[in-house]
Amino acid sequence: MVQEKGTISINTENIFPIIKKFLYSDHEIFLRELVSNAVDATQKIKRLGSLGHYNQELGELKIRVAVDPEAKTLIISDSGIGMTAEEIKKYINQVAFSGATEFMEKFKEASDANEIIGRFGLGFYSAFMVAEKVEIQTLSYQDGAEPARWSCDGSTEFEITEGSRKERGTDVILYLNEESTEFLEKTRIQGILDKYAKFLPVPVQFGTRSSSEPDGEDEKGNPKYKTVEVDNIINNTTPIWTKAPADLKDEDYLEFYRELYPFQDDPLFWIHLNVDYPFNLTGVLYFPKLKNDFEVQKNKIKLFSRQVFITDEVKDIVPEFLLLLHGVIDSPDIPLNVSRSFLQSDSNVKKINSYISRKVAEKLAELFKKDRKAYEEKWSDIGIFVKYGGLSDEKFWEKAKEFLLLTNTKKENYTLEEYQAKVKDFQTDKNGQLVYLYSADADYQHSYIAAAEKKNYDVLLMNTPIDTHFIHHLEMKLEKTSLKRVDADVTDKLIEKDDTEKHKLTEEETGKLKAIFEKAIGNPAMKVEVESLQAESFPVTITMEEWMRRMKDMSRLGGGMNFYGNLPDSYKVAINGNHPLIPKILSAGEEEQTLLAKQAFDLALLAQGMLKGADLTAFVERSVKVL
Ligand code: ADP
Repeated sequence: MVQEKGTISINTENIFPIIKKFLYSDHEIFLRELVSNAVDATQKIKRLGSLGHYNQELGELKIRVAVDPEAKTLIISDSGIGMTAEEIKKYINQVAFSGATEFMEKFKEASDANEIIGRFGLGFYSAFMVAEKVEIQTLSYQDGAEPARWSCDGSTEFEITEGSRKERGTDVILYLNEESTEFLEKTRIQGILDKYAKFLPVPVQFGTRSSSEPDGEDEKGNPKYKTVEVDNIINNTTPIWTKAPADLKDEDYLEFYRELYPFQDDPLFWIHLNVDYPFNLTGVLYFPKLKNDFEVQKNKIKLFSRQVFITDEVKDIVPEFLLLLHGVIDSPDIPLNVSRSFLQSDSNVKKINSYISRKVAEKLAELFKKDRKAYEEKWSDIGIFVKYGGLSDEKFWEKAKEFLLLTNTKKENYTLEEYQAKVKDFQTDKNGQLVYLYSADADYQHSYIAAAEKKNYDVLLMNTPIDTHFIHHLEMKLEKTSLKRVDADVTDKLIEKDDTEKHKLTEEETGKLKAIFEKAIGNPAMKVEVESLQAESFPVTITMEEWMRRMKDMSRLGGGMNFYGNLPDSYKVAINGNHPLIPKILSAGEEEQTLLAKQAFDLALLAQGMLKGADLTAFVERSVKVL
């Protein structure tokens, strides 16, 4: 007997074609929505029970998802609070948005289904993306409640009749439409549940039924379904982020990591997040072992809301520099279903951002203090996070100053304070300015490093992609300190002192020497200069000025200074006026002069790793001849 027929309060012709059409790409989320509703209903009855508002047996509180390939139905059942007919009318029929016009306006702008579904409370109605008919069989927990059945065939017409459920709870039965038969496949449903329901707080069972209609009653008078396959619980209801850190061992964290990211190396360490004021947030963030320095590993953090998986695109929720982290964040306070631009300006999201950033800084400081040796061993992996964090977040920098390490070419690590103390005696120039030397490649720049070390200078290793920016940052932050790459000038001139020697050549000899080299080199981009260097330094050194090389590096990294990037390479060729080879060149015949100059220049190129191809072959042949 039909008790009531009515019209769902949407003033448009028919909302369902719209839902189907515009939410196309994300069809599978209907299951997330329906299972989430079942979780909510289950948790509500639990709460009523614990508050003493419901005094009957709670029974086994689990959710069942079952497919029935014969009847082409998908059933989601719970033992939650259920609904009375009145409640169905209130919650299901009066779709929770102010009007069809608004909806019609808004969905045009919305770029993805999530946005529409969440914003307009269309959770339940997303079922019509895949079903031609939806039925609800429900029995409310309230004393004396009658079972109710609601059914709707995808038009705006619905009907409410007497229901058949004998026990408290709700069945939502989807009669799948022609295009959605994929949702009858076990593996498909299993896949969706794995994605969204793996950590739901209520046990979820998944199996296959032979019939969506009960084929009998059990001894208690409950409907009995013939189950073809044994249903399995598919979820872990208490994932580690819901537990207290004190109750967890390292192995628990590692095991969870391996579950989330199979086939990955174990993480370096992790941070357990837990706040409830001024926003709610729990989670575990892992520092992965980076394979290559900047391996693209972003979007590995999974975002949950009350244990329902939402997305692994957390760009706007996690500080940019921490996007390389792995793990989970669970927060009911993150607005999940709004546009990205809104998310960025949301005050909760901003607070979450700075909270995570602070937590990471605290954890690093703790690791550093507790076991410096272990920290140093991990530094090559952590360094990128710390440098990037320091560059992009002032507050993080303030904390990072304590645990940021500079590594030199001997693989020794120093904090900023320690390093300053280490180098200040030898590396303060005549103006009282500290000069830190660095190398971008210890092999390639080996001869320069060796020369610097002879002068008791220390050379830092700055060889990660972020270091170009980091060097600049250090100069801004450190007082009276500048950085120079070890090949920015001849070693004697890298750090200007008062005691520079004078070379013994006359002006005439200097001019002659310059001319000899210019002729031998034959390249106007190589600016020849005769310098007064220590006799034991190289006879010829090729350098590029610090500022010019940096501009080129920056523009290569897309720093926008393309003008400099387009400049031709211009080098300084420093001839050591004090080297014993010089008098030999000056006194030689013209042919030998050119030969010696060319040879000395090629040796310098070779030391710089710049001698290649035909030039290298010519050099080798010439050397053999000289021998
Ligand atoms: P939302 O969950 O965002 O409120 P829905 O459209 O998914 O929107 O559901 C509307 C309402 O219908 C819910 O708030 C709830 O009151 C009721 N409801 C839906 N599914 C169930 C269920 N399985 N058991 C009890 N009540 C339900």
